[in-house]
Amino acid sequence: MTALNRRTFAIISHPDAGKTTLTEKLLLTGGAIHLAGEVKARGAARRARSDWMKIEQQRGISVTSSVMTFERKGITFNLLDTPGHEDFSEDTYRTLTAVDSAIMVIDAAKGIEPQTRKLFEVCRLRSVPIITFVNKVDREGRDPFELLDEVADALALDVCPMSWPVGMGGQFEGVYDFARNQLMQPSGPSREYDDKPAQFTGIDDPKLADVLSAQALARLTEEAELAQGGYASFDLEAYRHGDLTPVYFGSALKRFGIEELINAIADHAPPPRSQPAQPEAVEPTRKDVTGFIFKVQANMDPQHRDRIAFMRLVSGTFKRGMKLVPSGHGKPIAVHSPILFFAQDRELADEALPGDIIGIPNHGTLRVGDTLSEKNDVRFTGLPNFAPEILRRVQLKDPTKTKQLRKALDDLSEEGVIQVFYPEIGSQWIVGVVGQLQLEVLISRLEAEYKVEAVLEMSPFDTARWITGPADALEAFKRISMNNLAKDRDGNPVFMARSAWDIGYQQEKNPDIAFSATRER
Ligand code: GDP
Repeated sequence: MTALNRRTFAIISHPDAGKTTLTEKLLLTGGAIHLAGEVKARGAARRARSDWMKIEQQRGISVTSSVMTFERKGITFNLLDTPGHEDFSEDTYRTLTAVDSAIMVIDAAKGIEPQTRKLFEVCRLRSVPIITFVNKVDREGRDPFELLDEVADALALDVCPMSWPVGMGGQFEGVYDFARNQLMQPSGPSREYDDKPAQFTGIDDPKLADVLSAQALARLTEEAELAQGGYASFDLEAYRHGDLTPVYFGSALKRFGIEELINAIADHAPPPRSQPAQPEAVEPTRKDVTGFIFKVQANMDPQHRDRIAFMRLVSGTFKRGMKLVPSGHGKPIAVHSPILFFAQDRELADEALPGDIIGIPNHGTLRVGDTLSEKNDVRFTGLPNFAPEILRRVQLKDPTKTKQLRKALDDLSEEGVIQVFYPEIGSQWIVGVVGQLQLEVLISRLEAEYKVEAVLEMSPFDTARWITGPADALEAFKRISMNNLAKDRDGNPVFMARSAWDIGYQQEKNPDIAFSATRER
């Protein structure tokens, strides 16, 4: 086994596009061997569930990401789940730092939606290659050419149709795979795909007339020619570079296109890649173990402050009990009870390879962004913080609890639940989140875990930008903008703006200062 047979990927989409359904069908088809949910349930079932979990249950959504692994034809697939709800957190973004590629799911009736675009931008920031899945072709959808053009225009990508829907909705007669020259057709009353592809010699094979209606055949013949002639042909380099996206049409619900997607990930998606680090990028071929924490989850009893840190293994062969040094505090820790998501049986569970994810139970020593390594000689970079989209002022109900509040806000921002900003003037701390749900999580965890009652008030600020620039220009800017200045958790200067317009205005007046919506750690 080598790292070359690992495919670590995520699915990005707008809510309702069909990510959950697709995930299920991928796992079914791939014969999933281990769901992270089971791991969670085993440990937590007998213990009290935190309020955080309650929110998850009540709202029927997953606040936290998990890892799902399956093996097929010698390839190990690690699918990292990103919460698909409208209210997503930095978790979602950070999960994308731990994958080597992504599947972008689009609803055939809706095209590119806002959250698809946001998540796509994060992928682009890191040149994560994208395979596009146009879902729900069993229903009425938009014209496939229009959809392809929208992906190309909205995301500035070359698109390459790899398969084609033979009609949609009431006229749906199947999906044609260009590479394999196979037609997948609906069958039975459920109109599902029956796993029996029909083989042809090409779109011009006269035998197609035996299985398609005359109307569908005429349409397929015409559209397929235009589709194959009018768009880029598949180019592995361009795809892996993030310049081209192969596009598959299908229906997660009716299982069309699932097999093609799995094959595409196996055949085209990159194996574990080198990761940006100081003093230099780390190659997956490096012998000793290195990895980074991209997510910390507190899913156990709030009294015990148990946490699971999720580490993406970048290099080396991890073995149970191994000693690793966290960059955060420099003292080696022995990883005795790692959670290995891919393990088919106990024996294999003692080892993990680059591309795999390891859950490390700890009591808060491990933080998002930490590097773990055997020799403590590298630091992974490029795990970004994102400018929060919602800012709130934290007001304590009991003013004597300032210390506890500070501790809680520091902890929770380390975990990536919120960001915290400490204004230079005044004593009212500001929290920032990228989704509304995080605010509810914050309030309930403050009460449950820190016994702090707080309310969140409207903040005078609308958005935040990290500022950098030449020392003297930065100092001068800070002096005149004291009322808008704050420090983030790590002491970096942040400009708190009253509006997006304000940022534009300041940028124009201060061309030497960079106002950044992301900050690398
Ligand atoms: P998510 O929010 O992206 O996880 O979306 P879900 O997987 O929960 O799907 C949202 C809705 O679309 C559900 O009612 C699904 O049954 C439905 N759906 C998902 N995939 C398909 C599909 O291929 N065809 C049809 N007709 N419905 C689908």
